[in-house]
Amino acid sequence: MEQSIVRNKFKELYGTEGALFFSPGRVNLIGEHTDYNGGCVLPGAIDKGMLAEIKPNGTDKVRAFSIDLNDSAEFGLNEEDAPSASWARYIFGVCREMIKRGAKLEGFDTVFSGDVPLGAGLSSSAALESTYAFGLNELYNCGFDKKELVLIGQKTEHNYCGVNCGIMDQFASIFGKEGHLIRLDCSTMNYEYVPFNPQGYKVVLIDSVTKHELVDSPYNKRRQSCENAAAAIAKNHPEVKLLGDADLKMLEEVKDLISAEDYMRATYAIEENARLENTCDALAKGDYATVGANVYATHKGMSELYEVSTIELDYLNEIAKECGVTGSRIMGGGFGGCTINIVPEDKYDQFIKTANEKFTAKFGVSPKVYPVKISDGARRLA
Ligand code: ADP
Ligand code: MG
Repeated sequence: MEQSIVRNKFKELYGTEGALFFSPGRVNLIGEHTDYNGGCVLPGAIDKGMLAEIKPNGTDKVRAFSIDLNDSAEFGLNEEDAPSASWARYIFGVCREMIKRGAKLEGFDTVFSGDVPLGAGLSSSAALESTYAFGLNELYNCGFDKKELVLIGQKTEHNYCGVNCGIMDQFASIFGKEGHLIRLDCSTMNYEYVPFNPQGYKVVLIDSVTKHELVDSPYNKRRQSCENAAAAIAKNHPEVKLLGDADLKMLEEVKDLISAEDYMRATYAIEENARLENTCDALAKGDYATVGANVYATHKGMSELYEVSTIELDYLNEIAKECGVTGSRIMGGGFGGCTINIVPEDKYDQFIKTANEKFTAKFGVSPKVYPVKISDGARRLA
């Protein structure tokens, strides 16, 4: 990302220079709809993110400028000072969450810009929150540890942006490490780094650029199905609290006691937990053929058992198979967004070309293409 764009704007607006911070967006290789079932996720920070220049200004006001939206905002740091622009509420929310935890913040000037596509499922919002949480923590010597910074970002979304998110996005943005994914248990925040060095492969996201209108809370229904199945299993196996504690044999025992739909959803959830663990083992061995096969299996499960795919995403998945892509699946909760693809380098150009042509011919809109590299998390640049 171009530091000079941020630097120049900051100088132009405030006539001085501040400190520069960067926090990335993220991908999730495998582990979808696992967090609420007591399983893990496997995100990694990417080489796209948010760059922010910040300098305390000696007043009690924050003056902020968004380069990408060409918009400015000025606000105080008390609860009643919330700005109206939604982008500014992320910065305000981070300040408020830090103050609630005892930080002594004062007014500052800031300019920021990012290259995480907004709303494509790469978590531009977490990149934004994490940059400010990380940067302000340093500039005001707040002493928050990384897990607290993660929670500050998450609570910003809950309390100031109306998004009831988990912790994966903020965790990946803060804890990201080049050449590694993070095997993360979202309920306990226990984590470990898993090596990710796909020599000879590229990782690329293909954005289906379509969002499907969600009717009757499909996510809540999926969750309910999983809870129903777990409750039925718990009657025979009291140690099972969530499907993450169960296996397919236990599910078979209650097949006739739960609905066909609950059975399908639970099959996916149990298999997905197992796939994530198997993928971590394969990554430790550098066995990307197995990783890829698991990634395809997740797509199939999300499409046929969990039923959260779309015709556009299924089509992108088919094209990937035809082009010899090693692994491809829907990334995120479903019903739109990107596929994540692990592509042999020698097949990359042909895959992108074919995906572009075929998708555009079928749906009349070109998919967007975002190549990514797994990179470091939040940091100070200057
Ligand atoms: P995502 O899945 O990318 O996180 P969200 O809807 O959660 O999508 O967050 C997008 C919001 O974050 C935008 O509406 C905007 O308020 C803020 N945002 C993200 N990136 C930028 C940016 N580069 N400049 C200004 N605001 C941004
Ligand atoms: Mg977001």
